[in-house]
Amino acid sequence: MIANYHTHTFRCHHASGTEREYIERAIEGGIKIMGFSDHIAFRFPDGYESDYRVRMNEVEDYFNTLNRLRDEYKNEIEIHIGWEMEYYPLHFEQMLENAVSWGSEYLILGQHFTGNEYPHGIYIGEGKNGEKELIEYVNCILEAIDSDKFTYICHPDVFLYTGPDDVYERENRRLCRAAVKADIPLEINFLGIRDHRHYPNDKFWKIAGEEGCTAVFGFDAHKAQAAFDGGSLREGQRIVNEYGLELTETVNLKPLK
Ligand SMILES: [Zn+2]
Ligand SMILES: [Zn+2]
Repeated sequence: MIANYHTHTFRCHHASGTEREYIERAIEGGIKIMGFSDHIAFRFPDGYESDYRVRMNEVEDYFNTLNRLRDEYKNEIEIHIGWEMEYYPLHFEQMLENAVSWGSEYLILGQHFTGNEYPHGIYIGEGKNGEKELIEYVNCILEAIDSDKFTYICHPDVFLYTGPDDVYERENRRLCRAAVKADIPLEINFLGIRDHRHYPNDKFWKIAGEEGCTAVFGFDAHKAQAAFDGGSLREGQRIVNEYGLELTETVNLKPLK
């Protein structure tokens, strides 16, 4: 594995370590292309900022620090600076405009909430979410794909679903077909593997395989140690092999302008 585009920093307030430690760990593991993609800073119209995001007043430091390190390590590793971002119908234009104005290189889609997250959205990675929420989740992902701004889709199977199997299959088939049509890779998320979460979900990847989806591995590092996660590689590779997925090692970063 030579590329990983999914790396956080301490600025999302649920990750630890310095950027330098992450970079050195990645180099040690043989990573040649490393993307930082922390949870994008965003201020909702009434001034609210989510707890799990970079704060607006930390954005400058995020870029300054990473730009400096990119320069310092340029002979050892290729560093890119972007964000993990949701697609919120109400706020997408503003979030994109912010990302562009900061000089971000790329976005990966991490859809963690229904609706527009705040004030009425719910986190879809826990609790009992059924058909209505799943349809809403998939609709958002389809709109995000249509925007043509996202390089890939993080943990497409993060949705924790409770309900009949045929609904799960129908909706995720819709997601996978749109991804194939737009030629956008789906991430097998190593944080899920490391932490034994409900994703990667075999039910999802079976559908993805049948639909001919392309997969990409993402470490989703929130600790320096995970900036190279060789321990999860075997399970990632099992999913690829078992469901006949096409695996891409590197991706083309979608331009934001
Ligand atoms: Zn995420
Ligand atoms: Zn992440």
